[in-house]
Amino acid sequence: MTFEELGLREEVLKSLKELGFEAPTPIQEQAIPHLMKDDCDFVGLAQTGTGKTAAFGLPLINSINTKSNRPQGLIICPTRELCLQITRDLEIFAKYVKCPVVSVYGGADIRRQMTQIKKGASIIVATPGRLLDLIKRKAIQLSEVQNVVLDEADEMLNMGFKEDIDDILETTPKSKNVWLFSATMPKDVARIAKTYMTEPLEVSIGHKNQTNENIEHIYYVVKDRDRYEAVKRLIDFHPKIYGLIFCRTKHETGTVAEKLAREGYNAEPLHGDLTQPMRDRVMARFRSKELQILVATDVAARGIDVDDITHVINYNLPDDNENYTHRSGRTARAGKTGQSLVLITPKEGFKIKSIEKQMRTEFSQGQIPNAEEICEIQLMKLIQNTININVKEKDIEKFMPQILASFETMDKTEIIKKFVSAEFNRFIEYYDRAGDLNQRAKQDSGRERGERKDKGQRARDEGKTRFFLSAGRRDGLNPGALLRVVCDAAGIKSDVIGRIDIMTSYAFFDVDEAHTERILKNVNGTEFEGTKLSVEVTNTQNGGGKGSRGGDRGSGGRRSGGGFRRSGGSNFRSKRSKGNRDRGRGGSERRSGDRNGGSGRRSGSDRSRHRGR
Ligand code: AMP
Repeated sequence: MTFEELGLREEVLKSLKELGFEAPTPIQEQAIPHLMKDDCDFVGLAQTGTGKTAAFGLPLINSINTKSNRPQGLIICPTRELCLQITRDLEIFAKYVKCPVVSVYGGADIRRQMTQIKKGASIIVATPGRLLDLIKRKAIQLSEVQNVVLDEADEMLNMGFKEDIDDILETTPKSKNVWLFSATMPKDVARIAKTYMTEPLEVSIGHKNQTNENIEHIYYVVKDRDRYEAVKRLIDFHPKIYGLIFCRTKHETGTVAEKLAREGYNAEPLHGDLTQPMRDRVMARFRSKELQILVATDVAARGIDVDDITHVINYNLPDDNENYTHRSGRTARAGKTGQSLVLITPKEGFKIKSIEKQMRTEFSQGQIPNAEEICEIQLMKLIQNTININVKEKDIEKFMPQILASFETMDKTEIIKKFVSAEFNRFIEYYDRAGDLNQRAKQDSGRERGERKDKGQRARDEGKTRFFLSAGRRDGLNPGALLRVVCDAAGIKSDVIGRIDIMTSYAFFDVDEAHTERILKNVNGTEFEGTKLSVEVTNTQNGGGKGSRGGDRGSGGRRSGGGFRRSGGSNFRSKRSKGNRDRGRGGSERRSGDRNGGSGRRSGSDRSRHRGR
């Protein structure tokens, strides 16, 4: 099928030709003819990367009455980043149509946005809160709105925009069409379809909840305390990585990014505590590939639409499987391949099974590379860099007689060994002390066998304290929100939090017992969406006493004190920083087509691919 056959107007076809879009993608092929009808509610289950922006953008532009400058289309999406991305795309599609597109989002001057709307806005791309604010201020004339698009609806609901979306859909004209796009179809999204749409056409690209098949999913089993070390090895093993590391909280994101940067990796954080200009700066650096590794929270990374991301690293798994879909979907965009790497502890094997089941995809188990493998990769990278180095003949010429005289007594092999060692010894020394980080997954946990232990007892068995929290689902709490609130208030990492159970009006969570006092002291009185929270150690585990350890834990279970540091590492790190900064500047080095796409990272042939660096 061609775009011409879809019935789009000439001006739109002209810009598509300029863009080099030759044929519609599957979602476009199915959505566009339907969305060009008058009455056309629509549900599209599609990931980013499938061409869904054009799937709704082209018919929207096509339907614009160019004689009016009032809003006729509203596009609502979860983040400012996505808002700007959609606006950019639509402006390109509408290059030859009089169709001003205005983006409005929180954290920016509302009066400027009001002025822009006043000047004329056929399409408004908005985040829910800001749009509602503008509607309440009567800054947007809604009477001509024909189509309302909800993009990444599942994510907007995850982020707590449920009421805002309801308000927007209630306020806009009854006659409007609603076009909903979502990567997954949880209950809340289905409810919107049921409430606000009439017999929508439902198009699913692939199975519901399925992810892109070009993504290879690999999990690694490590101790909780070795997560950071494991991430470093994965990065060292993939020197050309252009990647996103996902953490569960702002605190963890900041800590991981800071540690990586301190150790010379080209990494920066992206999370909600950064100011907008800071976020823009980080994103601009990441987009231009000046920045190699972005460490982000789920919320901050929404809408990141960057092609060529080679790896997504899950520092730990998100609580919602849907979030894993979003995370992994940041790689393998527009037909490319990529890897989503997940670190789990031995007890988390069931989480992988659950994602596999829900996403209808398979994970393979990977092995965190050992010292020898990483040293080989890094050594070959050093050799390749040396081969490729640009010799400044004029500058070095005058020193050559002296240099040659110094090496007079050595043969070629000896000289090469000396130069390589000068650069490489510190790396070898660092990894010399590095052990094997791989653990075995628990094959048949009590949970999988369907055994049901008293939850408090189980928490104690695992060396955790079980807490009661005074907010629940009814207050808008979900596992992600609980993690954010508790970790940010107590200043702890999310990986010390274990099981989370959200009930209607309260919740329970397990935390490594070492943090019990900290939680009691800092979380009590914290606000969550206007409600003051209280926490207490639950009665259900009083039998064993909070934090008391049963004798059946054998070796005493793991503690995640966070104090794991390799004492000899600092020397290596500080020296290495410079080398890595240099690596960071070499944009081209990270841009090559080698996407480390092979499955095994341990075979010789796979490793040899890295030699081209
Ligand atoms: P999206 O899913 O909207 O984020 O689109 C993913 C990427 O595919 C973007 O870079 C689009 O510009 C590109 N794209 C969308 N539709 C087409 C098409 N029909 N042909 C070629 N590229 C496309």
